[in-house]
This record gives sequence, C-alpha cells and structure tokens, in this order.
Amino acid sequence: MQGAVKYIRIARAILLMIKLTAPSGKVTIDREERDRARRYNRQKEQLFLIGLLISWVAGALFVFSGLAASVRRSATKLAGRGIKGQSLAVVFYSLLSWVFSLPLSFYSGYILEHRYHLSHEKIPSWLWDHVKGLGLGLGLEVPGANLAYAVIRRWPRAWWVILTGLSLPFTVLLAQLFPVLIAPLFNKYEPVRDEQLVERLKALAAKSGIHVASVMQMDMSRRTKKANAFFAGLGPTKRIVLADTLIENFTPEEIEVIVAHEMGHQVHRDIWRGIAIGTLFTFAGSYTLNRIARFILRRFGGKIGTTSLDNVATLPLLGWILSFVGIVLMPIQNAYSRYIEREADTYALDLTKDPESFASAMERLAALNLSDPNPPALVKYVLHSHPPIIDRVDHAREYARDHGLPVPEPMQPY
Ligand SMILES: [Zn+2]
Repeated sequence: MQGAVKYIRIARAILLMIKLTAPSGKVTIDREERDRARRYNRQKEQLFLIGLLISWVAGALFVFSGLAASVRRSATKLAGRGIKGQSLAVVFYSLLSWVFSLPLSFYSGYILEHRYHLSHEKIPSWLWDHVKGLGLGLGLEVPGANLAYAVIRRWPRAWWVILTGLSLPFTVLLAQLFPVLIAPLFNKYEPVRDEQLVERLKALAAKSGIHVASVMQMDMSRRTKKANAFFAGLGPTKRIVLADTLIENFTPEEIEVIVAHEMGHQVHRDIWRGIAIGTLFTFAGSYTLNRIARFILRRFGGKIGTTSLDNVATLPLLGWILSFVGIVLMPIQNAYSRYIEREADTYALDLTKDPESFASAMERLAALNLSDPNPPALVKYVLHSHPPIIDRVDHAREYARDHGLPVPEPMQPY
C-alpha cells in the first residue's frame, strides 16, 4: 500500500493541490527536450501499467493461495484473537505490501526522476520519506481497519453504507489536519520573503474575495526541479503555498495567473465539490466491493482460508478488489477533474485578463515538469486529471480573441 505516499496522494487530491503539470505557451523547447519529455511520460505510463499488473497477479497469489490467511494466523499466535492480533495482522499486511512495492517505487520515483534530471534527492532522504510514509500509513490503517471490521461485525449487511458515511467527516478532518500536521513532516514551510510578491498575491486574493491568512513557500527544490502552487487549510487557516521552484523560475505575472487558477478552485468551492463527488464514488465503490467480496468468499473461501468478511484476513482481498474498482472509476473521476480544471483556468483568465502570462506559465511548467503537452487520447482519458497543456494554451488563445486581448502564440505539438 506504499503507506504514507498513498495517503499523501489522497490528501493532495483532497486539497486539490493542483499539479500544474501541463505545459503550454511560448517558452522555447527544442526538439531534443520534446523527445525527452515524450520518452519520460511513456516510461512513467508503462511503469504504472506494469505496477498495476504485478500488484494484481501478486495480490491474487497472496489471497487465493491462503497466504493472507496464514499471515493472520501468525498474528493471532503472537498477539491473540482480540484487537491486538487484528492490529498486528494489519501491520504485517502493510509491511509486506510496502516492501513488495519498494523496488518499483524506487525505479519510478528515484531512478527515472534522476535519469531525466528532475530530481537531485539522495537515496537516504528518498528512503526516509518512504519510511515516514509507512509510519503515517500504519497510523491511519491500523485504527481504520479496526474500526472497519468492528462495523462489518456489527452491521454485516449495511457496513458499506455506514463506512461511507464515516469517511465523510474523516475526509474533512484530514483536509484540515493535512497542512498543519502532515505536510510539515515532508517539507519545510516558511513565509515568502519577497514582500512585493506577497502584496501582489494578497491584492489578487482581495480582488477575488478570498481571505488569505498568509503566503508561504515550501522547499520543493530540496527534492525536485518540478514546480507547484496550492491553497492549504480551510477557513481561518487558509494560506497560499508556493513551491520555492515556482518563485525562482517564474515571472511575478506568471505566478499571479497560477495562483489565480488556485483561487478559481477556492471560489468554486472545489474542495467541497470534490469531497461530495468523492463520497458518491466511495458509496458506489463500497457497494461494489461488498457484492464482489461476498461472491468471491462464497465461491473461493476454501482456497482463501476464510469465508467470513469480518475476518481481518480478508483485508488483502478487499484491497485487491478495490484496486480494480479504482481503475474503473479513474476515468470518470479524471473527466470530472479535467472539467473543474478548465473552469479554474477560465477563472484565472477572468481575474488576471492576462492570457499571455497564462500561456507562458503553462509552457514553463511543461518544460520544468517535463510533462507531455499533448498526450495520446487514451492516456489523457484514463490518467490525466488536468487538460493537456496544449488545450489549456488553446483555451487561453480563444479567451484572448473573445475578449480583445493580445493572443498568445500557439503551442507546437510535441
Ligand atoms: Zn487546478
């Protein structure tokens, strides 16, 4: 389950920490750079696919060979039948999954990033992040699984409805706590020193009617060349966070449009819309999970080593089924995400009236993040949460024409 990393990803999605990985505009990118970007993205996608297939095959072997059940029996021998034994089983499953996925994580998240000069992180620091991730993952998974199995035992028919209901306040709480408690474990946050920039962004926030407590920067450059910006916190703790790489590499106008895009998410209440839609997906997903899990346990319980869903030995089976459900839901979630991203882009253009800086910011992001501005359609529909950069630049061009503003150069396809 890649422990913490997974939770960071989830929390990022919750916070709509916008991954501005779409390039566009008029920063000149030469042919060699383009080829590099294309190769990088194809390799990332292949690795995603390989990782998925490996985890499905390994997961099936682990569950249907009875190995998962024997891990549970070992935990029972060591710590008893009660909550201790159950917790220990969850720890074993998490550790096994973490160790198993480590080589591919290392290849994708370390070797590949270094090969393409996107990262300059050292191995100990990379590993330490993963260990912290594991710790954080266990901190959430152990109580989470204990609660889930208690609910399954108490309400064997309606558990999936109750857990979906419980996930809602938990998600809201995590969104609140993430910037305060979790994010500082992975990055250092401090106030932006450039007073002029802070004033500009506060003025922009005032223009859009958003209350901002502070403008912070995070030391993203410690690990990567990639750049990013997002809003963190809800209510009175709301702050703008800029990657230091963004401050270093982008003009103030470009930073403004990027932050204006994030303001679009705020004004449109995308966090809440995201949580609402996410709850619908959780509802559909957990219904499907319940049906499929019960079918499999009835049919293959002998091989698995248990027929009852309330046995924690079914946790790997549930995770295995969920990864299929997740893949089916992914294109729908991403289609929704691309739709709200387009809306935020329009908001940024409305607020700044600066399509040229929008386009050049996109192009700079593309160059910096080595993103594929024009991915194959299938890749876009399944994997991309943001419209391709080339579409975003075209959108800015269209906006400029409609509003009588200077029209940015089109972006050349890679
Ligand atoms: Zn966005």
